[in-house]
Amino acid sequence: MSKVNPFEMAQQQLLDCANILNLDQGVVNILMQPQKQIQVSIPVKMDDGTIQVFQGFRVQYNNALGPYKGGIRFHPDETIDTVRALAAWMTWKGSVLGLPLGGGKGGVICNPKAMSDGELERLSRGYVRALWQHIGPDMDVPAPDVYTSGQIMAWMMDEYSVISGKNQYGVVTGKPVIVGGSLGRGDATARGGMYTLREAANEVGLDLSKAKIAILGFGNVGSFAASLAGEMFGSRIVAVSDSKGGVYDEQGIDIASLNGHKKKTRSVIGYKGLKTLTNEDVLALPVDIIVAAAPDEGAINGRIAKTIKAKIICELANGPTTPDGDEVFVKNGLHVIPDFLCNAGGVTVSYYEMVQNMYMHYWTLDEVYSKLDKAMTKSYHEVLDASKEYKINMRQAAYVVAVRRVVEAMKVRGWV
Ligand code: GLU
Repeated sequence: MSKVNPFEMAQQQLLDCANILNLDQGVVNILMQPQKQIQVSIPVKMDDGTIQVFQGFRVQYNNALGPYKGGIRFHPDETIDTVRALAAWMTWKGSVLGLPLGGGKGGVICNPKAMSDGELERLSRGYVRALWQHIGPDMDVPAPDVYTSGQIMAWMMDEYSVISGKNQYGVVTGKPVIVGGSLGRGDATARGGMYTLREAANEVGLDLSKAKIAILGFGNVGSFAASLAGEMFGSRIVAVSDSKGGVYDEQGIDIASLNGHKKKTRSVIGYKGLKTLTNEDVLALPVDIIVAAAPDEGAINGRIAKTIKAKIICELANGPTTPDGDEVFVKNGLHVIPDFLCNAGGVTVSYYEMVQNMYMHYWTLDEVYSKLDKAMTKSYHEVLDASKEYKINMRQAAYVVAVRRVVEAMKVRGWV
Protein backbone atom coordinates (compact mmCIF):
# COMPACT_ATOMS: atom_id res chain seq x y z
CA MET A 1 0.00 0.00 0.00
CA SER A 2 1.23 3.47 -0.80
CA LYS A 3 2.02 6.44 1.42
CA VAL A 4 -1.01 8.44 0.29
CA ASN A 5 -3.61 8.64 3.05
CA PRO A 6 -6.61 7.10 1.29
CA PHE A 7 -9.15 8.60 3.69
CA GLU A 8 -7.84 12.12 3.00
CA MET A 9 -8.18 11.28 -0.70
CA ALA A 10 -11.78 10.13 -0.22
CA GLN A 11 -12.59 13.26 1.80
CA GLN A 12 -11.06 15.52 -0.85
CA GLN A 13 -13.17 13.86 -3.55
CA LEU A 14 -16.29 14.30 -1.43
CA LEU A 15 -15.56 17.99 -0.80
CA ASP A 16 -15.17 18.49 -4.55
CA CYS A 17 -18.63 16.97 -5.02
CA ALA A 18 -20.10 19.00 -2.14
CA ASN A 19 -18.99 22.16 -3.99
CA ILE A 20 -20.56 21.02 -7.25
CA LEU A 21 -23.85 20.21 -5.51
CA ASN A 22 -23.60 23.24 -3.24
CA LEU A 23 -24.39 21.04 -0.25
CA ASP A 24 -25.29 22.46 3.13
CA GLN A 25 -22.27 22.49 5.51
CA GLY A 26 -24.11 20.38 8.10
CA VAL A 27 -24.79 17.68 5.51
CA VAL A 28 -21.14 17.76 4.44
CA ASN A 29 -20.02 17.40 8.05
CA ILE A 30 -22.10 14.22 8.37
CA LEU A 31 -20.78 12.74 5.12
CA MET A 32 -17.14 13.51 5.92
CA GLN A 33 -16.96 11.03 8.82
CA PRO A 34 -18.07 7.44 9.45
CA GLN A 35 -21.10 6.98 11.68
CA LYS A 36 -19.41 4.27 13.73
CA GLN A 37 -15.91 2.80 14.02
CA ILE A 38 -15.28 -0.34 15.98
CA GLN A 39 -11.85 -1.68 16.87
CA VAL A 40 -11.44 -5.08 18.45
CA SER A 41 -8.62 -7.30 19.68
CA ILE A 42 -8.88 -10.86 18.45
CA PRO A 43 -6.86 -13.49 20.34
CA VAL A 44 -6.00 -16.52 18.20
CA LYS A 45 -4.36 -19.74 19.31
CA MET A 46 -1.64 -20.34 16.73
CA ASP A 47 -0.55 -23.79 15.54
CA ASP A 48 2.61 -23.64 17.69
CA GLY A 49 0.51 -23.18 20.85
CA THR A 50 1.23 -19.46 21.33
CA ILE A 51 -1.51 -16.84 21.49
CA GLN A 52 -1.37 -13.98 19.03
CA VAL A 53 -3.66 -10.96 19.37
CA PHE A 54 -4.79 -9.38 16.09
CA GLN A 55 -6.32 -5.93 15.64
CA GLY A 56 -9.60 -5.91 13.74
CA PHE A 57 -11.75 -3.03 12.49
CA ARG A 58 -15.25 -2.50 11.23
CA VAL A 59 -16.14 0.97 9.98
CA GLN A 60 -19.83 1.68 9.41
CA TYR A 61 -19.83 4.73 7.22
CA ASN A 62 -23.43 5.55 6.35
CA ASN A 63 -26.67 3.57 6.46
CA ALA A 64 -29.15 6.13 5.12
CA LEU A 65 -29.95 3.92 2.12
CA GLY A 66 -29.88 0.53 3.84
CA PRO A 67 -27.77 -1.85 5.95
CA TYR A 68 -24.03 -1.21 5.94
CA LYS A 69 -22.37 -3.32 3.26
CA GLY A 70 -18.76 -3.98 2.36
CA GLY A 71 -15.86 -6.38 2.46
CA ILE A 72 -13.34 -7.40 5.10
CA ARG A 73 -9.65 -7.30 4.24
CA PHE A 74 -6.92 -9.37 5.84
CA HIS A 75 -3.75 -7.39 5.20
CA PRO A 76 -0.44 -6.75 7.01
CA ASP A 77 -0.54 -3.01 6.17
CA GLU A 78 -4.18 -2.46 7.09
CA THR A 79 -4.86 0.83 8.87
CA ILE A 80 -8.01 2.44 10.22
CA ASP A 81 -7.64 5.12 7.52
CA THR A 82 -7.66 2.60 4.66
CA VAL A 83 -10.75 0.98 6.16
CA ARG A 84 -12.41 4.40 6.60
CA ALA A 85 -11.73 5.35 2.98
CA LEU A 86 -12.99 2.02 1.70
CA ALA A 87 -16.12 2.30 3.85
CA ALA A 88 -16.82 5.75 2.38
CA TRP A 89 -16.31 4.41 -1.14
CA MET A 90 -18.68 1.51 -0.37
CA THR A 91 -21.36 4.06 0.54
CA TRP A 92 -20.99 5.78 -2.84
CA LYS A 93 -20.68 2.43 -4.63
CA GLY A 94 -23.99 1.02 -3.42
CA SER A 95 -25.67 4.35 -4.06
CA VAL A 96 -24.38 4.88 -7.59
CA LEU A 97 -25.81 1.47 -8.49
CA GLY A 98 -29.12 2.39 -6.87
CA LEU A 99 -28.86 -0.48 -4.35
CA PRO A 100 -30.79 -0.33 -1.06
CA LEU A 101 -27.54 -0.54 0.89
CA GLY A 102 -25.29 1.66 2.97
CA GLY A 103 -21.50 1.45 3.15
CA GLY A 104 -19.05 -0.17 5.54
CA LYS A 105 -15.73 -1.96 5.52
CA GLY A 106 -13.69 -4.19 7.76
CA GLY A 107 -10.08 -5.16 8.13
CA VAL A 108 -7.70 -7.23 10.21
CA ILE A 109 -3.99 -6.50 10.47
CA CYS A 110 -2.45 -9.89 9.69
CA ASN A 111 -0.40 -11.69 7.07
CA PRO A 112 -2.74 -14.37 5.73
CA LYS A 113 0.00 -15.74 3.44
CA ALA A 114 1.96 -16.81 6.53
CA MET A 115 -1.03 -18.40 8.32
CA SER A 116 -2.33 -21.96 8.15
CA ASP A 117 -5.96 -22.73 7.28
CA GLY A 118 -6.63 -23.57 10.91
CA GLU A 119 -5.22 -20.22 12.09
CA LEU A 120 -7.25 -18.37 9.44
CA GLU A 121 -10.41 -20.18 10.52
CA ARG A 122 -9.84 -19.29 14.20
CA LEU A 123 -9.14 -15.65 13.23
CA SER A 124 -12.29 -15.47 11.07
CA ARG A 125 -14.47 -16.95 13.81
CA GLY A 126 -12.77 -14.65 16.35
CA TYR A 127 -13.61 -11.62 14.20
CA VAL A 128 -17.28 -12.59 14.26
CA ARG A 129 -17.28 -13.33 18.01
CA ALA A 130 -15.81 -9.87 18.62
CA LEU A 131 -18.25 -8.08 16.33
CA TRP A 132 -21.42 -10.16 16.16
CA GLN A 133 -23.54 -7.57 17.94
CA HIS A 134 -22.72 -5.05 15.23
CA ILE A 135 -23.37 -7.19 12.14
CA GLY A 136 -26.44 -8.99 10.82
CA PRO A 137 -28.51 -9.44 7.66
CA ASP A 138 -30.40 -6.17 8.21
CA MET A 139 -27.63 -4.32 10.02
CA ASP A 140 -24.23 -4.78 8.42
CA VAL A 141 -23.33 -7.44 5.87
CA PRO A 142 -19.61 -8.14 5.29
CA ALA A 143 -18.13 -9.78 2.16
CA PRO A 144 -14.76 -10.89 0.81
CA ASP A 145 -12.12 -8.38 -0.21
CA VAL A 146 -8.31 -8.39 -0.43
CA TYR A 147 -7.01 -11.76 0.90
CA THR A 148 -10.37 -12.96 2.21
CA SER A 149 -12.21 -15.73 0.39
CA GLY A 150 -15.48 -17.62 0.09
CA GLN A 151 -14.14 -20.12 2.63
CA ILE A 152 -13.53 -17.32 5.13
CA MET A 153 -17.10 -16.07 4.55
CA ALA A 154 -18.41 -19.62 5.16
CA TRP A 155 -16.61 -19.77 8.54
CA MET A 156 -17.93 -16.32 9.47
CA MET A 157 -21.50 -17.23 8.48
CA ASP A 158 -21.23 -20.46 10.46
CA GLU A 159 -19.92 -18.70 13.59
CA TYR A 160 -22.69 -16.11 13.42
CA SER A 161 -25.28 -18.87 12.89
CA VAL A 162 -23.99 -20.76 15.93
CA ILE A 163 -24.14 -17.60 18.08
CA SER A 164 -27.70 -16.82 16.87
CA GLY A 165 -28.87 -20.40 17.24
CA LYS A 166 -30.22 -20.55 13.71
CA ASN A 167 -29.01 -20.61 10.14
CA GLN A 168 -28.12 -17.07 9.05
CA TYR A 169 -26.92 -17.24 5.48
CA GLY A 170 -27.63 -13.54 4.95
CA VAL A 171 -25.06 -12.26 7.45
CA VAL A 172 -22.25 -12.22 4.86
CA THR A 173 -22.08 -12.46 1.07
CA GLY A 174 -19.53 -14.00 -1.27
CA LYS A 175 -20.17 -17.39 0.32
CA PRO A 176 -19.59 -20.67 -1.52
CA VAL A 177 -22.69 -21.59 -3.58
CA ILE A 178 -23.38 -24.71 -1.46
CA VAL A 179 -24.05 -22.51 1.61
CA GLY A 180 -26.16 -19.76 0.09
CA GLY A 181 -23.71 -18.06 -2.24
CA SER A 182 -24.92 -16.64 -5.55
CA LEU A 183 -23.87 -18.03 -8.88
CA GLY A 184 -21.75 -15.47 -10.68
CA ARG A 185 -20.36 -13.81 -7.53
CA GLY A 186 -16.82 -15.09 -8.20
CA ASP A 187 -16.02 -12.94 -11.22
CA ALA A 188 -18.76 -10.33 -10.67
CA THR A 189 -16.41 -7.40 -9.99
CA ALA A 190 -14.41 -7.99 -13.17
CA ARG A 191 -17.50 -8.80 -15.26
CA GLY A 192 -19.33 -5.68 -14.06
CA GLY A 193 -16.25 -3.63 -14.97
CA MET A 194 -16.21 -5.16 -18.45
CA TYR A 195 -19.84 -4.12 -19.00
CA THR A 196 -18.89 -0.52 -18.16
CA LEU A 197 -15.80 -0.81 -20.39
CA ARG A 198 -18.03 -1.90 -23.29
CA GLU A 199 -20.16 1.23 -22.81
CA ALA A 200 -17.13 3.51 -22.37
CA ALA A 201 -15.46 2.20 -25.54
CA ASN A 202 -18.67 2.90 -27.40
CA GLU A 203 -18.72 6.44 -25.98
CA VAL A 204 -15.14 7.24 -27.02
CA GLY A 205 -15.39 5.36 -30.34
CA LEU A 206 -12.86 2.63 -29.56
CA ASP A 207 -13.20 -0.77 -31.26
CA LEU A 208 -12.61 -3.25 -28.44
CA SER A 209 -11.88 -6.12 -30.81
CA LYS A 210 -8.75 -4.25 -31.89
CA ALA A 211 -7.89 -2.74 -28.50
CA LYS A 212 -4.65 -3.37 -26.60
CA ILE A 213 -5.01 -3.63 -22.84
CA ALA A 214 -2.57 -3.48 -19.92
CA ILE A 215 -3.69 -4.95 -16.62
CA LEU A 216 -2.15 -3.45 -13.51
CA GLY A 217 -2.62 -6.01 -10.73
CA PHE A 218 -3.03 -9.58 -11.94
CA GLY A 219 -4.74 -10.80 -8.78
CA ASN A 220 -8.22 -12.22 -8.35
CA VAL A 221 -10.08 -9.37 -10.07
CA GLY A 222 -7.35 -8.53 -12.60
CA SER A 223 -6.97 -12.09 -13.88
CA PHE A 224 -10.75 -12.44 -14.37
CA ALA A 225 -10.75 -9.10 -16.22
CA ALA A 226 -7.95 -10.29 -18.49
CA SER A 227 -9.82 -13.48 -19.47
CA LEU A 228 -13.15 -11.69 -19.86
CA ALA A 229 -11.79 -8.90 -22.07
CA GLY A 230 -10.51 -11.56 -24.46
CA GLU A 231 -13.64 -13.69 -24.24
CA MET A 232 -16.24 -10.92 -24.46
CA PHE A 233 -14.58 -8.48 -26.87
CA GLY A 234 -11.60 -10.23 -28.45
CA SER A 235 -9.29 -7.55 -27.03
CA ARG A 236 -5.55 -8.24 -26.79
CA ILE A 237 -3.94 -8.25 -23.34
CA VAL A 238 -0.42 -7.06 -24.04
CA ALA A 239 0.83 -6.40 -20.51
CA VAL A 240 0.14 -7.54 -16.97
CA SER A 241 1.74 -6.79 -13.64
CA ASP A 242 1.54 -7.70 -9.97
CA SER A 243 3.34 -6.46 -6.86
CA LYS A 244 6.63 -8.00 -8.08
CA GLY A 245 6.59 -6.36 -11.54
CA GLY A 246 5.16 -6.78 -15.00
CA VAL A 247 5.64 -8.35 -18.42
CA TYR A 248 4.85 -7.05 -21.90
CA ASP A 249 4.29 -8.85 -25.18
CA GLU A 250 3.02 -6.72 -28.02
CA GLN A 251 1.62 -9.81 -29.75
CA GLY A 252 -0.69 -10.49 -26.81
CA ILE A 253 -0.44 -12.77 -23.79
CA ASP A 254 -2.23 -16.10 -23.50
CA ILE A 255 -4.09 -15.63 -20.23
CA ALA A 256 -4.77 -19.32 -19.50
CA SER A 257 -1.07 -20.09 -19.82
CA LEU A 258 -0.14 -17.00 -17.74
CA ASN A 259 -2.56 -18.18 -15.04
CA GLY A 260 -0.67 -21.50 -14.95
CA HIS A 261 2.66 -19.67 -14.62
CA LYS A 262 1.32 -17.46 -11.81
CA LYS A 263 -0.04 -20.48 -9.94
CA LYS A 264 3.37 -22.16 -10.07
CA THR A 265 5.63 -19.17 -9.38
CA ARG A 266 3.17 -16.86 -7.52
CA SER A 267 3.98 -14.00 -9.90
CA VAL A 268 3.59 -12.97 -13.54
CA ILE A 269 7.27 -12.08 -13.81
CA GLY A 270 9.46 -14.53 -15.67
CA TYR A 271 6.55 -15.55 -17.92
CA LYS A 272 7.97 -17.01 -21.16
CA GLY A 273 11.31 -15.32 -20.42
CA LEU A 274 9.83 -11.84 -21.02
CA LYS A 275 11.75 -8.88 -19.62
CA THR A 276 10.57 -7.72 -16.17
CA LEU A 277 9.07 -4.22 -16.13
CA THR A 278 8.11 -2.06 -13.17
CA ASN A 279 4.45 -1.21 -12.58
CA GLU A 280 5.26 2.34 -13.71
CA ASP A 281 6.74 1.01 -16.97
CA VAL A 282 3.54 -0.96 -17.56
CA LEU A 283 1.37 2.13 -17.12
CA ALA A 284 3.44 4.02 -19.71
CA LEU A 285 3.10 1.38 -22.45
CA PRO A 286 1.44 2.19 -25.81
CA VAL A 287 -1.98 0.66 -25.02
CA ASP A 288 -5.59 1.77 -25.52
CA ILE A 289 -6.92 0.72 -22.13
CA ILE A 290 -5.46 0.38 -18.65
CA VAL A 291 -7.29 -1.83 -16.22
CA ALA A 292 -6.15 -0.64 -12.78
CA ALA A 293 -6.83 -3.64 -10.54
CA ALA A 294 -3.92 -3.50 -8.05
CA PRO A 295 -4.95 -3.09 -4.38
CA ASP A 296 -2.66 -0.11 -3.98
CA GLU A 297 -4.59 3.07 -3.19
CA GLY A 298 -3.19 6.20 -4.80
CA ALA A 299 -0.79 4.28 -7.08
CA ILE A 300 -1.52 6.61 -10.03
CA ASN A 301 -0.40 10.07 -8.97
CA GLY A 302 0.07 13.18 -11.12
CA ARG A 303 3.62 12.28 -12.15
CA ILE A 304 2.67 8.78 -13.25
CA ALA A 305 -0.61 9.89 -14.86
CA LYS A 306 1.43 12.09 -17.23
CA THR A 307 3.16 9.01 -18.67
CA ILE A 308 -0.09 7.21 -19.52
CA LYS A 309 -0.93 6.88 -23.21
CA ALA A 310 -4.18 4.92 -22.89
CA LYS A 311 -7.54 6.47 -23.78
CA ILE A 312 -9.60 4.65 -21.15
CA ILE A 313 -8.79 3.88 -17.52
CA CYS A 314 -10.91 1.12 -16.09
CA GLU A 315 -10.55 1.42 -12.30
CA LEU A 316 -11.33 -2.05 -10.99
CA ALA A 317 -9.42 -1.41 -7.75
CA ASN A 318 -10.61 0.98 -5.04
CA GLY A 319 -8.93 4.40 -5.12
CA PRO A 320 -6.13 3.76 -7.64
CA THR A 321 -5.91 7.43 -8.73
CA THR A 322 -4.98 10.43 -6.56
CA PRO A 323 -6.74 13.80 -7.05
CA ASP A 324 -3.66 15.23 -8.84
CA GLY A 325 -3.63 12.13 -11.08
CA ASP A 326 -7.23 12.97 -11.90
CA GLU A 327 -6.28 16.52 -12.89
CA VAL A 328 -3.82 15.15 -15.42
CA PHE A 329 -6.43 12.76 -16.83
CA VAL A 330 -8.87 15.63 -17.29
CA LYS A 331 -6.20 17.78 -18.99
CA ASN A 332 -5.23 14.94 -21.32
CA GLY A 333 -8.84 14.02 -22.11
CA LEU A 334 -8.72 10.44 -20.79
CA HIS A 335 -12.00 8.67 -20.16
CA VAL A 336 -11.96 7.32 -16.60
CA ILE A 337 -14.48 4.73 -15.44
CA PRO A 338 -14.25 5.68 -11.77
CA ASP A 339 -13.59 3.00 -9.18
CA PHE A 340 -16.84 2.83 -7.27
CA LEU A 341 -18.78 2.63 -10.51
CA CYS A 342 -16.36 0.35 -12.40
CA ASN A 343 -15.90 -2.17 -9.58
CA ALA A 344 -19.48 -2.16 -8.29
CA GLY A 345 -20.26 -5.53 -9.93
CA GLY A 346 -19.09 -7.36 -6.79
CA VAL A 347 -21.40 -5.59 -4.37
CA THR A 348 -24.24 -5.70 -6.90
CA VAL A 349 -24.11 -9.50 -7.03
CA SER A 350 -23.65 -9.47 -3.24
CA TYR A 351 -26.96 -7.64 -3.10
CA TYR A 352 -28.46 -10.32 -5.37
CA GLU A 353 -27.07 -12.89 -2.93
CA MET A 354 -28.84 -11.14 -0.02
CA VAL A 355 -32.11 -11.17 -1.97
CA GLN A 356 -31.73 -14.87 -2.81
CA ASN A 357 -30.93 -15.70 0.82
CA MET A 358 -34.05 -13.88 2.00
CA TYR A 359 -36.27 -15.63 -0.55
CA MET A 360 -34.49 -18.99 -0.21
CA HIS A 361 -34.78 -19.17 -3.96
CA TYR A 362 -31.74 -19.19 -6.19
CA TRP A 363 -31.20 -17.72 -9.66
CA THR A 364 -29.46 -19.19 -12.70
CA LEU A 365 -26.14 -17.83 -13.89
CA ASP A 366 -27.87 -16.27 -16.90
CA GLU A 367 -30.31 -14.43 -14.65
CA VAL A 368 -27.45 -13.04 -12.57
CA TYR A 369 -25.42 -11.96 -15.62
CA SER A 370 -28.33 -10.32 -17.34
CA LYS A 371 -29.43 -8.41 -14.21
CA LEU A 372 -25.82 -7.35 -13.60
CA ASP A 373 -25.40 -6.17 -17.19
CA LYS A 374 -28.57 -4.08 -16.99
CA ALA A 375 -27.59 -2.58 -13.61
CA MET A 376 -24.02 -1.67 -14.63
CA THR A 377 -25.06 -0.30 -18.03
CA LYS A 378 -27.80 1.85 -16.52
CA SER A 379 -25.48 3.25 -13.84
CA TYR A 380 -22.69 3.96 -16.32
CA HIS A 381 -25.12 6.01 -18.42
CA GLU A 382 -26.54 7.85 -15.42
CA VAL A 383 -22.99 8.90 -14.54
CA LEU A 384 -22.14 9.78 -18.14
CA ASP A 385 -25.30 11.89 -18.41
CA ALA A 386 -24.48 13.69 -15.15
CA SER A 387 -20.96 14.40 -16.44
CA LYS A 388 -22.47 16.02 -19.53
CA GLU A 389 -25.20 17.86 -17.65
CA TYR A 390 -22.86 19.38 -15.05
CA LYS A 391 -19.82 19.53 -17.40
CA ILE A 392 -17.70 17.60 -14.91
CA ASN A 393 -15.44 14.56 -15.19
CA MET A 394 -16.66 10.99 -14.72
CA ARG A 395 -15.44 10.70 -11.11
CA GLN A 396 -17.15 13.92 -10.11
CA ALA A 397 -20.27 12.73 -11.93
CA ALA A 398 -20.25 9.38 -10.11
CA TYR A 399 -20.02 11.29 -6.82
CA VAL A 400 -22.86 13.60 -7.85
CA VAL A 401 -25.19 10.68 -8.66
CA ALA A 402 -24.23 8.75 -5.50
CA VAL A 403 -24.11 11.59 -2.99
CA ARG A 404 -27.42 13.06 -4.20
CA ARG A 405 -29.20 9.79 -3.38
CA VAL A 406 -27.63 9.46 0.08
CA VAL A 407 -28.49 13.08 0.89
CA GLU A 408 -32.07 12.60 -0.31
CA ALA A 409 -32.42 9.54 1.95
CA MET A 410 -30.97 11.46 4.91
CA LYS A 411 -33.45 14.27 4.26
CA VAL A 412 -36.55 12.09 4.07
CA ARG A 413 -35.42 10.18 7.15
CA GLY A 414 -35.24 13.51 8.96
CA TRP A 415 -31.50 13.42 9.68
CA VAL A 416 -30.89 16.85 8.16
N1 GLU B 1 -15.22 -6.04 -1.47
C1 GLU B 1 -16.01 -5.72 -2.61
C2 GLU B 1 -15.95 -4.24 -2.93
O1 GLU B 1 -15.05 -3.54 -2.53
C3 GLU B 1 -17.41 -6.24 -2.49
C4 GLU B 1 -18.17 -5.75 -1.31
C5 GLU B 1 -19.47 -6.50 -1.07
O2 GLU B 1 -19.79 -7.38 -1.85
O3 GLU B 1 -20.12 -6.17 -0.10
O4 GLU B 1 -16.75 -3.73 -3.64
